Formats: sequence, C-alpha cells, structure tokens
Amino acid sequence: MGKVQNQSTKHDPVIQEIPLACADETAAVEFLEKQRWGDHPACPHCGDTSVYQMTDSKTGERQANFRWRCHGCKSQYTVRKGTVFEDSRIPLRHWCYGFWRASTSKKGVSALEIHRHTGVSYKSALFMLHRIRFAMSDSSPGNLSGDIEVDETYVGGKPRYKGQSKPGRGTKKQAVMAMVERKGRVRTKVIANVTAKTLAKEIRKSIDPKASRLLTDENPGYRAIGKRFGRGHGAVRHKGKEYVRGDIHSNTVEGFFSIVKRGLNGIYHAVSKEHLHRYLSEYEFRYNHRELSDGERTLAAIKAADGKRLLYKGT
Ligand SMILES: [Zn+2]
Repeated sequence: MGKVQNQSTKHDPVIQEIPLACADETAAVEFLEKQRWGDHPACPHCGDTSVYQMTDSKTGERQANFRWRCHGCKSQYTVRKGTVFEDSRIPLRHWCYGFWRASTSKKGVSALEIHRHTGVSYKSALFMLHRIRFAMSDSSPGNLSGDIEVDETYVGGKPRYKGQSKPGRGTKKQAVMAMVERKGRVRTKVIANVTAKTLAKEIRKSIDPKASRLLTDENPGYRAIGKRFGRGHGAVRHKGKEYVRGDIHSNTVEGFFSIVKRGLNGIYHAVSKEHLHRYLSEYEFRYNHRELSDGERTLAAIKAADGKRLLYKGT
C-alpha cells in the first residue's frame, strides 16, 4: 500500500470549501462552477465564452435555478450540463457530499449512510453513488508496466464457513482479478472463471509484457503467460509457507484485495454481480489517487464526472 495518509489539511483550500458546498446549494453550485470552468465559463453547447448568469427580473439576484445563457447560441444551461448529474434532480450539495465521502472513505461509503446524512431517499442515494462510481471509472487506461503483481480472489456473496473446502468455486462469490504496478496503479477485472486462459487474456489486455516482470503466487494458471514476460515471472509458494523471496512477493496486490474485501463485507452487504465492477472502480480510483490529499482526490473525482454523461449505460 501507499504511504499512510497523514497530511495536514491546513494548506488544502479545497477541503475547507467542501463542507460548505455540502451544506448550502448556492455554495455547491458556485463550487462546481469554479471547478469546472475556473475563471473562464464557457457554453457547453458551442464553447462560446460570451455567457452570463441569468437573473431574476424582480430582484436582480441570480436565478434560483442557477441558469446561464449563451450569447453565441442562445441556449440556457446549468453546471450540470454534460456531467453525470445532468438528468438528476438531486440537489448539487448532496452530490458534493457523495463525491467527498466516496473519494475520502478508505473502505467506501454506503447509500444508507448518504441517505441518513443528507435526507435524500435511499434509492436516490444508491443512484448517486452508482453515478459517482461511474465517474471514477478509468475511461482511458494505458498499459501497466514494470513489476506487476497479479492475483485473483472471490468476493461478495455470503461469508465463507469454516471447513468449506473450496472458497468461491460453486458458490455465489464472484471471481475478481487485480493487477498492481508496484508503486503505481491498480487495475481490476471481474472475471467469469480463473482458468489459465482467462487470466492470460486479461493480462494481455492490460500489461505490456516486454517491459515487465510478472509476480504471482504459485497458481499454475500464470505459468504459460509468465513465459512471455521480458523480465521474467517470479512466483512464491504460499502452500510451502513461502511469502517472500527477495523482492518476489504478491503482498501489494493482496493488501489491495484486503481493503476491497473489508469494504465490501462491512459497507456494501449485498453487491450484485452486475454492479460489482462499479464498486471495484471506486476502490481502484482511491488507490490510484492515494498520493493526493483528500481535497485533491475529491476534485479529481468531480472533474472525472465531466463529459461522462453520454457514456453512462445505467449499470
Ligand atoms: Zn453556446
């Protein structure tokens, strides 16, 4: 795992603004507008920068629905346009709260908690968190390279009982694979099975083998694909109680899985198979942004929401 997060928030202006944005709708709108457009608001339809905030004709104050109007194309819009918030009526202050909590809670945040803290319905909270997870999903991941630890595990379903001989196989648990660059990024995949063929297929899709070394446990499923790695394949034998040999180990990927499992078991009691990849995106996002402060990580998630609306397929 990355270093322990113990950074001071004193010099993190964002983390000081976020609580206010979570409590007040005007503050939330202005916060999101600033994050999205900075000092140069532009029309999301035509890109024209000749835009203005619409005002109430009686009071002269900004309109209660926070609309903007574009001189160029005459369209009206709000900061929601073109983001994962677009077709939702949930107040933006609750979206800010959801992004903040999902970006900073190590094990994740449950819809029940968001429901209790904000007052939005449980269903709305669930909807919002799914969208936030979608925003967090990596839309243009490049190949991993270097020292890559790869492992697979089973998550979800009921807890395993003592004496159950085959964890995962034949139960409601779902197989998941993770590939972690040492000191770098993680990538997860929900997989149908853990055969050598499936593992190799996913590895080929995500890793540049020429420049990399594969690090795994003794699972024979990695042997054939391991031979294609330019810098070799190191495997430790867990069954022989060998966990580390020199720098050959899979502790990083196992550490990642243990956070995922503690989160899924403790926070998300019943994650369906169809949604599992979204939950994994959330863990992946926090891991891949672990060096950022809480405020910077929250902003990175909010920025990632921009332009994602059209891609969302509702799962
Ligand atoms: Zn325009």
